[in-house]
Amino acid sequence: MVSSIKDELLGKSIEELQEYMTEMGEPAFRGRQLFKWIYVKETNSFYDMSDLPRELRKKLDLTARISIPRVLKQRVAADGTRKYLLELRDKKRIETVLIPQGQEKDCRYTLCISTQVGCPIGCSFCATGQAGFQRNMDYYEIIGQVLGSKRELKRKLKTNEENIISNVVYMGMGEPFLNYDQMIKSIQMLNHPKGLNIGQRHITVSTSGEVNGIRRLAQEELQVTLAVSLHACDDELRNQLVPLNRKYPLDALIDAIEYYISETNRRVTFEYVMLDEVNISRRDADNMIKLVKPLLANVNLIPYNEVVGLSFTKPSKQKIQHFYSWLMEGGINVTVREEKGADIMAACGQLRADPGIIYKS
Ligand code: SAH
Ligand code: SF4
Repeated sequence: MVSSIKDELLGKSIEELQEYMTEMGEPAFRGRQLFKWIYVKETNSFYDMSDLPRELRKKLDLTARISIPRVLKQRVAADGTRKYLLELRDKKRIETVLIPQGQEKDCRYTLCISTQVGCPIGCSFCATGQAGFQRNMDYYEIIGQVLGSKRELKRKLKTNEENIISNVVYMGMGEPFLNYDQMIKSIQMLNHPKGLNIGQRHITVSTSGEVNGIRRLAQEELQVTLAVSLHACDDELRNQLVPLNRKYPLDALIDAIEYYISETNRRVTFEYVMLDEVNISRRDADNMIKLVKPLLANVNLIPYNEVVGLSFTKPSKQKIQHFYSWLMEGGINVTVREEKGADIMAACGQLRADPGIIYKS
C-alpha cells in the first residue's frame, strides 16, 4: 500500500484513537494504548507496540502511519544546548533547539519549536526572516517536532525520564499567530495530562506583534505566557526592524496588549533584541520606560546573536549593562537573556529553513 494514503494517527486525540479502534472492530481501550505509545513513548513503529496483539499491529502497519519527524542531523554546543534538524513528511526541514536547565544530574530541557517553515515577517536582523517563507506547519507537525526531539534526546541521554522536556517555547521559526488555529491545537495537545503533559504555565508563545492573534489569545482561557517582540519603541525604527509594524503600529500593538492583560490578568514578557548603535541609546531606554511601565509586563533583553550576511552587531558588555541599568532605574522589571548555543548557531534568530551549511562543520 502506498504510504500517502495511510491514515495519519499523529495528532489524533485519545477520543479519536478510541473511535479509530472501535471502527476497526477493536475495543476502545486499544485507542488508549495507541495514545500512550505515540505521546508518551514517541513510537512510530506499530511493531514496537508490544501490548497490542500481533495481528492488530500488522493491520495497523498496513492502514496507518505515525509521522513523527526524524532527526536528520544534530549538534551539541559547549554549554549543552542541542540543535536538531528535523525532516517533515514533504521533506521540508525545520530546526528545534533544546536548552538545558539546571544541573546535569536532574537536567531538564526547554524546547524551542517552530510553527512555520521559514517566516513571512522578514525582520531585518533575523536569519529565519531573511531566508523567506515556505509554508505553515500543521498542528500534528508542531507536536511531532516535540515528540521527535524528545525521542532523540532520551536516546542520546539514555534516559526514560518522561519529563525530560519541561518547557516549550514557541520561539523557533515563524510567526505563531499567522498560524493561529494550528498553534492553539498544538498547545492543547502538548498540555494533555495523559500525553506529553507539559503544563500551560511551562509554555510560552512569542509573537512579533500580530495584533489579532493577541486579542484572540486573550479569549482562550489558557495559562500560557505571551511574549511580544518589541525591539523598538518608536514607529519609525520599529518599521525598519519588524516590518509587521507598518500594518500594526505601536499604538495598535499596545492597545491589544492592554486588552490581553485586562482579560487575562497575566503578565506579558517583552523581548528586545539589543542591536549596537541601533536601539540601545538613552533615548531608546526612556521611550521604553514610558511605553512599558504602565503595563503588567517585564522586559527580556536579548543581546544580538550575529547572523552571517547581516550588518547588525552585538553591543559590548558595557553597553548592555548601561541599557539594562537605565531600564531598571526607570522601574522596569528587566532581565538579560543568557546566550545559549551560539557556537552551533542555535541561539535566537539563528535558525534557518535551509540550514545545510550550518551542520557541515
Ligand atoms: N517569531 C517569533 C519568535 C522568534 S525567536 C517572534 O519574532 O517573536 C524569539 C526572539 O528572538 C524574538 O524576539 C526575535 O525577534 C529574536 N531574535 C530574532 N533574531 C535574533 C538574533 N539574531 N539575535 C537575537 N535575537 C533574535
Ligand atoms: Fe519571523 Fe520572528 Fe524572525 Fe521576525 S524575528 S522574521 S517574526 S522568526
